[in-house]
Amino acid sequence: MEVFFMNGFWKRKLPAFVLAFVLVAGLIPAAGAVEAHEHVWSDLKSNGVEHWRECAVEGCDEKQDAGTHTPGEWGEVDSKLHGKKCTVCEYMTETDDHKLTLIEGLSKPASCYEAGVEVFTCICGYYEEHPLAATKKHTYASAWTSNATHHWHPCNTEGCPDKSSGYEKHSYDTGVYTSSSTQHWQICKVCNTASAKASHVDENKDGRNGYDSCPQRHHRYL
Ligand SMILES: [Zn+2]
Ligand SMILES: [Zn+2]
Ligand SMILES: [Zn+2]
Ligand SMILES: [Zn+2]
Ligand SMILES: [Zn+2]
Ligand SMILES: [Zn+2]
Repeated sequence: MEVFFMNGFWKRKLPAFVLAFVLVAGLIPAAGAVEAHEHVWSDLKSNGVEHWRECAVEGCDEKQDAGTHTPGEWGEVDSKLHGKKCTVCEYMTETDDHKLTLIEGLSKPASCYEAGVEVFTCICGYYEEHPLAATKKHTYASAWTSNATHHWHPCNTEGCPDKSSGYEKHSYDTGVYTSSSTQHWQICKVCNTASAKASHVDENKDGRNGYDSCPQRHHRYL
């Protein structure tokens, strides 16, 4: 009988204790909300329309610095988008694709031998450089040009170093020379360019300036 009675006591009393505890615990934050306190302001918070600061003290609903966003200028977001941020809280109020415009003054077309570049810019300051490879489409003059050892048809593009058209060593007839009173030289059969000039050699030392004794005997053709 006694055990049954004790069980009955606790079954009746326990809910009362639990209820009392819940009531007291519930009063603590409720009392804090109404007590005077120094507000502790958060960083700016924002939603799609406005920004504000919240008091960090639990239960306090006060806000300050509330206002609608004020979008600034377009700024680069990434290689695809630019956006406008609120000048107060930096919330991105709007984004859009870059609108790229070719800037002729900063661009350079490719030539047959030099790479070029196309420069595009957007109002937000974003820019792209698109490299252009050299075209390698040379057009050659029919005339010859030459250096000391070779001739070739030059490319019509000024400054182009391409020598691939007709590039060969000068071709001379063996033993055929052109001469002046002091020097002899050869003329290329293909490009008509004079070789380097050399002084006659007075081989027999007769003081006659080599006309009759130059090793190549070119004096015969004078
Ligand atoms: Zn507060
Ligand atoms: Zn804002
Ligand atoms: Zn942009
Ligand atoms: Zn060229
Ligand atoms: Zn030549
Ligand atoms: Zn000579």
